[in-house]
Amino acid sequence: MEPKIRGAICMNAHPKGCAEETRRQIRWTQDYFSHHKASKKLERVLVIGASTGYGLASRIAAAFGYGAATIGVSFEKEPSEKRPATPGWYNTRTFDEEAKKAGIPALSFNGDAFSNEMRAKVGDALKSLGGPADLVIYSLASGVRTDPADGTLYRSALKPLGEVYKAKSVDFINGRLGEVEIAPATEEERRATVKVMGGEDWRLWIDYLGAQGLLAPDVKTVAYSYIGPEVTHAVYREGTIGSAKKDLEETAKGLNKELSASGGGAYVSVNKAVVTRASAVIPVVSLYISLLFKVMKQKGVHEGCIEQMVRLFSQRLYGSNEAMPVDTEGRIRIDDWEMREDIQKEVSSLWEKVDDENIDELADLAGYREDFLKIHGFSVPGVDYDAEVDFLNI
Ligand code: NAD
Repeated sequence: MEPKIRGAICMNAHPKGCAEETRRQIRWTQDYFSHHKASKKLERVLVIGASTGYGLASRIAAAFGYGAATIGVSFEKEPSEKRPATPGWYNTRTFDEEAKKAGIPALSFNGDAFSNEMRAKVGDALKSLGGPADLVIYSLASGVRTDPADGTLYRSALKPLGEVYKAKSVDFINGRLGEVEIAPATEEERRATVKVMGGEDWRLWIDYLGAQGLLAPDVKTVAYSYIGPEVTHAVYREGTIGSAKKDLEETAKGLNKELSASGGGAYVSVNKAVVTRASAVIPVVSLYISLLFKVMKQKGVHEGCIEQMVRLFSQRLYGSNEAMPVDTEGRIRIDDWEMREDIQKEVSSLWEKVDDENIDELADLAGYREDFLKIHGFSVPGVDYDAEVDFLNI
C-alpha cells in the first residue's frame, strides 16, 4: 500500500503504520517515566481532539505517564472494506488496546466535539469513571463548526488581515520552491475563524462540566496555541487564525479567574511547530518547519509531539515549581526552545538564503516528509508495506 498524496493532503492511511507510530509514542513515554518519576497520579483526564497530533500525545502522557483514566473525543472517518479510515481512527483503536493491556481505563468517542450531545455523552462517561476530571485538554483543529446554539455552520480561513501576503513557500513533496500570494480575509471570514478556532466552544465545555460537578476543585484546563516567527506572522499570528488564538487566550484569562478560586487554573500553552495534519495545510509553514528542524536537530533540541507534551506535563503542568511557569501574558511557553534567539536567528538567515539549488542542504525537507508520511502510517520502521492490508483492523 502506497500513500496517495494530493497537494499537502494524504488521502489514505496505513492501519498497521498508524498503530506502530502510536505504540512508539507510548513506549517513549513509558521509557521517560521509568527514569523520571511522575510527580502525582491523575485520576481522570479528558482530551478533546485526542486522536492525532498534540491531543493524542497529551492523552498518551496522561495515561502512560500519570496513570490517568482518559476520555478521548475525536472526529475521524471510519474504515470500510474498500477504504481505510482516517489516521486518528487507527491511532485511537491502538491507544484503547494498549491502555486496556496496561489496565488503564480509556473511553473514546468519535463524533462532533462542538455538539451539546457530545458534551452530554462525555459527562456521563466521566460519571461512569467515578467522578470529576483533574485535567481537560482542548486540542481541536478543525475547518468547520456548527454552533449548537442556532445550527449555523462556520468555516475557518487561513488568510492574512488587511493586506495581501506574499512569501516563499515549498511543495514539500517535490521540493520545489515557489511563492504564495494570499488575498486578505474579509471581516466575515475573520469572525467565522474565531467562531471555529476561538475560545467559545472551550468555554462551553468547561461551563457544562462545571455545572455537572465534573471538574475537580484543582482542575487544570489547557488549550493549545502557536505564535511562531516573524516570517509567518502575517498569515498566522496576525491573520485570521491568530485572531482566533487571541480569542482563545482571552477565554483562558476569564476561565482562569473562575477556576483559580477553588485552586484550579485555565491556560493556553504555546506549543512548538510540528508536522500534523493541521499544520501541513498552512501555507509557508512547511518551509519554515523544514528550516527549523534542520537547526533544532543540529543543536540537539529537536522535539516532536510526544516530547513536547511530556515536557508540558512534567515541567509545566505538574512540575516541581510551586507556581506554573508562564509568560507575561499568563501563557505556558513550551515553544521556548523553538523561539530561542540563536535558533530564530539561524532560521531567518537560512530563510533569506534558501533557493532551489540549496534547499536540500539548508532545509530538512527529508525530515519533514518523513514526519508527514508517518502521521499517515507510512514510512514507519518495522511495517511491511508489501503485505495485504485489512482496512477494518489494525
Ligand atoms: P491535528 O489535526 O493533528 O488534530 C486535531 C484533532 O481534532 C484530531 O483529534 C481531530 O479528530 C480532532 N477534531 C477536529 N474536528 C473535530 C470535531 N468537530 N469534533 C471532535 N474532534 C475533532 O492537529 P494539531 O496540530 O495537533 O492541533 C491541535 C492544536 O494544537 C490546535 O489548537 C493547534 O492550533 C495547536 N498547535 C499546533 C501546532 C502544530 O505545529 N501542529 C503548534 C502549536 C499549536
